Amino acid sequence: MKTALARKALACAGPLILVNGDHPLAREAAPELEPVHPRWPQVLLERRAARQLTACIRAVGGGEDIVPVSGWRSRAEQQAIWDDTLRAEGEAFTRSYVARPGCSEHESGLAIDLGRAADEIDFIRPDFPEDGACGAFRRAAAGYGFILRYPAGKEGVTGIAHEPWHFRYVGAPHAEIMTAKGLVLEEYLELLEEHPPRRPLRFRSGIYEFQICRLEAAEGEGASPRWGGCRQISGDNRGGLIVTRWR
Ligand SMILES: [Zn+2]
Repeated sequence: MKTALARKALACAGPLILVNGDHPLAREAAPELEPVHPRWPQVLLERRAARQLTACIRAVGGGEDIVPVSGWRSRAEQQAIWDDTLRAEGEAFTRSYVARPGCSEHESGLAIDLGRAADEIDFIRPDFPEDGACGAFRRAAAGYGFILRYPAGKEGVTGIAHEPWHFRYVGAPHAEIMTAKGLVLEEYLELLEEHPPRRPLRFRSGIYEFQICRLEAAEGEGASPRWGGCRQISGDNRGGLIVTRWR
């Protein structure tokens, strides 16, 4: 049994953590980072997210057309972006498109802003259209664990304006489930509250059968046994652990 402190740390880490204005990162995140591509060595993501992003871009033949614009940011960088945007664009714009330091998914290393290759790319609002390689990426993204994090029509839930360029790694099979059900991360985590270990959410993808459940971090992680040998645990940054099992 892990100590209470270790469980608390576990609850704030992993691909399913919620990071928004109401759920800031508990402390400056220190993900294991990797460049998304040798061509853009300055754009970093959490290691698994970086590899899946590269694989998805390659699968849709988007190597020439899709540019990773912004990945992991330190808290200091997020602060600088906030300050610069506030100065240049004013408060209303900044509140709509820039997260407060500590409340940005970019600090987790799980978020990536993508743009279409062009001579000039807008750093805050890159153009990432629905057609061509960008459109193909959108359609393939869920299979690689990515979701469009701030879709149109969900502004009331996410608190963020529609951002067609901002993708978030949540991993498989969660991205597929969210996409199929039309849920944003806030709604998905709420849904999982209805699925304790005795009543897991079931999902099939290809040859795999998944069971997903949520338990309070304080209950410990021993409450959900392995199933077919495979199990993954992520915190949700709201006091819970999401256990994903598959066979
Ligand atoms: Zn972004």
